[in-house]
Amino acid sequence: MHDHGNLILILGDQLTPHISALAGADRQRDTLVMAEVHDEASYTNHHRKKLVLLFSAMRHFARALQEDGWQVHYHAYDPASDRRSLEDVIRRQLAVTGARRVITTECGEWRLDNEIRQWAQRLDVAVEIRLDDRFLASKEEFANWAKGRKQLRMEFFYREMRRKTGFLMTPDGTPEGGQWNFDADNRKKWTGRPPTPAPFRVEPDAITREVIELVNRQFAGHFGTTDDFHFAVTATDARAALAHFIDFALPCFGDFQDAMSETEDWLFHSILSPSINCGLLDPREVCEAAVQAWYAGRAPLNAVEGFVRQIIGWREFVRGIYWLHMPGYAAENRLGYNRDLPWFYWTGDTRMRCMHKAIDATRRNAYAHHIQRLMVTGNFALLAGIRPEAICDWYLAVYADAYDWVELPNVLGMVMHADGGYLGSKPYAASGKYIQRMSDHCANCHYKVSHSTEEDACPFNALYWHFIHRHRKQFAANPRMTMMYRNWDRQTPERRQALLGRAEDLLERLEQL
Ligand SMILES: Cc1cc2nc3c(=O)[nH]c(=O)nc-3n(C[C@H](O)[C@H](O)[C@H](O)COP(=O)(O)OP(=O)(O)OC[C@H]3O[C@@H](n4cnc5c(N)ncnc54)[C@H](O)[C@@H]3O)c2cc1C
Ligand code: SF4
Repeated sequence: MHDHGNLILILGDQLTPHISALAGADRQRDTLVMAEVHDEASYTNHHRKKLVLLFSAMRHFARALQEDGWQVHYHAYDPASDRRSLEDVIRRQLAVTGARRVITTECGEWRLDNEIRQWAQRLDVAVEIRLDDRFLASKEEFANWAKGRKQLRMEFFYREMRRKTGFLMTPDGTPEGGQWNFDADNRKKWTGRPPTPAPFRVEPDAITREVIELVNRQFAGHFGTTDDFHFAVTATDARAALAHFIDFALPCFGDFQDAMSETEDWLFHSILSPSINCGLLDPREVCEAAVQAWYAGRAPLNAVEGFVRQIIGWREFVRGIYWLHMPGYAAENRLGYNRDLPWFYWTGDTRMRCMHKAIDATRRNAYAHHIQRLMVTGNFALLAGIRPEAICDWYLAVYADAYDWVELPNVLGMVMHADGGYLGSKPYAASGKYIQRMSDHCANCHYKVSHSTEEDACPFNALYWHFIHRHRKQFAANPRMTMMYRNWDRQTPERRQALLGRAEDLLERLEQL
């Protein structure tokens, strides 16, 4: 019956009926293939909540497709199955259906993309890979934008995307509010007021409960917990989560975008990345909702512009960088770092309060907000000179929103500066002072943020100066770093020696911090 139909492969992060692979498909003849396979679930120590999210969202999506009349072959996770890779599943389905063509939408990871591109030869079928039009800029469009530019700056790319989408643009083509970027307004510390909204919650239904049980049984050794799982697993729930964010958090999103808190895991962040990245929410729809809130006077411009910039600016930009530079990108290590990742990244067992809080939230929630990722766990890895591959693996494993295309540029580029600086004109290195300014962690810490060389001194302080000192060759000529080098050179030789000595000592015993 299926003899001449196609196989349409839908990956776990392509969970939308508008995915390009489905365009023009035939409900009677074609077979959709979705698979929870061992190799994809196990190539890294994925957080258990991330596995629950993806398996549950995939199962819900498959059911919705079936109810809509599609024929779906769903390969549920089975550790005893001899089909351990997507290729195994496709090979079997080709034999079962007699299909001669596989259609899919380009995937988000170089490794898998490379494998799928070999199927035509390995499986002797036609393989059609379609553009992923959920992104505003195609890989080719980004490459064209990048061509001939000496420096790739997110800000300029972002302005192109503003013009392209018309988001927050006046009819005469200028940015609303007379400025492209209101970031300078978005750096307030949060001191308990206004109160933060509770995050949107979906209680697990029968499908999700079954998946939780499966993950706890089959992935017991994986990082994190499945307790209190409350992410959206359907498009309907994800839309409700979006509405919840627009109503309750967006108005304060800008002001407290860079803040961190002892007591609040989520602050005013949207928590939408897990849904956007797996396809439950469309990024344009998300931005449109935020822009409409501004037009309706329900959120200020600094919040809405900041939010839209993260999505049509940063999110698209990091994807462009990824595809422009892979596969060589993953091996970049321009600062020559080779230290192992301290074990406390997996346990949270450290006396550094800010680190403990960020890692503990990560373990519980499969989530930490941007500033924790960038300025706490990321900053520490940079200052301590952790091997980029090790810290990249950690980020890929621990967050529910982590996929290679978005994790790698953020970690290797933005945090570790291992690519020479595509994601920032200077490294985001900072001492404890920054964390003190943006959070209330230091008051509860074993270490003293006001100390730098003493036994109880905040480790970020001496490590920061060590970083500045050891990279003079790379950064002294950078105009945005001049001030730091001036400050360093202004200190007495004894003070510099004491700081470097303290840092060396810390680097010797990272595991004990
Ligand atoms: C070291 C590091 C690792 C990161 N790893 C990931 C990752 O694996 N997956 C991921 O989606 N994001 C990653 N980010 C970006 C960002 O931290 C998360 O997108 C954000 O924290 C998700 O939470 P939210 O939805 O509440 O975001 P919000 O603060 O509400 O931001 C809104 C949206 O903007 C987008 N966004 C914001 N910043 C970025 C960015 N730098 N890159 C891409 N999209 C962005 C996301 O879609 C996010 O949902 C990383 C950032 C850093 C510094
Ligand atoms: S004192 Fe240092 S280690 Fe402790 S919370 Fe503050 S910045 Fe973090």
